[in-house]
Amino acid sequence: MADTFYNFVDGKWVPAATGETFLDTNPARPEEVIGEFQRSGPEDVDAAVAAASRAYGDWRKTPAPLRGEIIARATRMLVERKPELAETITREMGKVLVDSGYDVQGAITSGEYMAGEGRRMFGDTVPSGLPNRLAMTVRDPVGVVGIVTPWNLPMLMPAWKLFPALVCGNTVVVKPAEDTPHTAVLLFEILEEAGVPPGVANLVTGYGPEAGQALVTHPGVDMISFTGSRAVGKQIAASAGAELKHVSLEMGGKNALVILDDADISEAVTGAMWGGFSTAGQRCTASSRLVVDESVADEVVERLVDGIGTLVVGDGLDPETTVGPIINAKQLDRIHSYTAIGVEEGARLVVGGEKLEETGSGGYFYAPTLFDHATPDMRIAQEEIFGPTITVIRVDGDEEAIAVANGTRYGLSAAVYTRDTVRALRAVRDLEAGLVYLNAPTIGSEIHLPFGGVKDTGNGHRESGTAAIDQFTEIKTVFLDYSGTLQRAHIDEPTE
Ligand code: NAD
Repeated sequence: MADTFYNFVDGKWVPAATGETFLDTNPARPEEVIGEFQRSGPEDVDAAVAAASRAYGDWRKTPAPLRGEIIARATRMLVERKPELAETITREMGKVLVDSGYDVQGAITSGEYMAGEGRRMFGDTVPSGLPNRLAMTVRDPVGVVGIVTPWNLPMLMPAWKLFPALVCGNTVVVKPAEDTPHTAVLLFEILEEAGVPPGVANLVTGYGPEAGQALVTHPGVDMISFTGSRAVGKQIAASAGAELKHVSLEMGGKNALVILDDADISEAVTGAMWGGFSTAGQRCTASSRLVVDESVADEVVERLVDGIGTLVVGDGLDPETTVGPIINAKQLDRIHSYTAIGVEEGARLVVGGEKLEETGSGGYFYAPTLFDHATPDMRIAQEEIFGPTITVIRVDGDEEAIAVANGTRYGLSAAVYTRDTVRALRAVRDLEAGLVYLNAPTIGSEIHLPFGGVKDTGNGHRESGTAAIDQFTEIKTVFLDYSGTLQRAHIDEPTE
């Protein structure tokens, strides 16, 4: 019998009003049920939004340093429980333990940083154009925030949004991905134990078109913070825009790792292997396209083939494993369909390209796959596959390399390997991406630096660091007049 887990609404663990549940399974061993979770509908979202609205009045007036202290307590619990949480993540979504540790650590550093923001949350003091008057800005929370997250970073993603939203004084309703509700439940158990007051943080599990859609279209929600696919992000932007809700979107990527002819090839290939195959390529920032100068491409491909030969695909809990399973059967089929598309389009399949069934576990395993001689317009070079597939596109010179790197609708992350500072700086200037790495792969972020993408990857917001504080606050401009008379801006302002 699987354990049953509940929604967290108004400080209580409650079943969904729908009376329905769904099963969460281990992608390495789908027979293993992680638990039974609430399949929530609009009524459950209503209850959660109502609780968040009720709690908002007191929470927004709670001093930000005190809000930060609650986050600090939750963060200490994440530190204590890190190994157990990492194991939960691996069991639930498959990635190897080192990747799951990164996921928890991302939540920890976010908690540490955002707890400190409770004692900053700076506004500006600004000289007024009128005498005997002070001007300043202060930060207000936005209100009730709906948070919708993907499955590939099941702890980090909700935490990255929750901690800044809460420290800024917002109340929240979180709808985690249906493939990873267990990690979200554990995060909420921690928030409860840390003393987050009832109604301030609410959790509603369930499917996107049901619970997710009810949340993003709910009139009581003031802001949506979403990370996920471009297709769903576009729908959310349209519905949130119609209601003038604030909306922050982080979507897909088709990230280029560029290898110029003077690169340290060994370093570049090591970077490409980590960028392309960690988390089985299921990262928004995965190095899914390698844009390689023709003069070094044979060597790069040869070394990649050697590298792929050393990868061990299997259960992420096994310390020998370097590439875990794909999240679910549907996504496994989708990745495999892209292999057929690539072959059909005329790219050269060098290695991989098959489902791996020999483990006998029924797990959703896919062979690390390498395509060479792809052209920039091919679908495998344009569309996000979100699996362990790397596509090599050969180019002639720096100009073509940058043009190809920029030649997709996405703009999340890009990397360049070169030993030449001038070429490196030109690439930094010209790459259309929210994140640029020199001599490092396209993945990995640091909490105190902004994170996000340009073009179709985002809608102009950034997560993480002070950019997250900007996202989750409204600026209030305050004028304090002590002149004792009416002073009219632009009329009584002294001019020459
Ligand atoms: P997804 O868009 O299918 O789902 C994301 C979330 O949206 C889930 O919680 C889902 O239930 C919910 N959802 C689905 N339909 C909805 C609807 N109609 N209304 C409201 N919510 C809905 O994405 P996924 O498969 O979970 O995640 C993979 C995608 O996420 C990839 O495209 C990846 O690049 C992207 N991603 C981006 C970043 C980033 O920071 N840019 C980070 C991680 C993942």
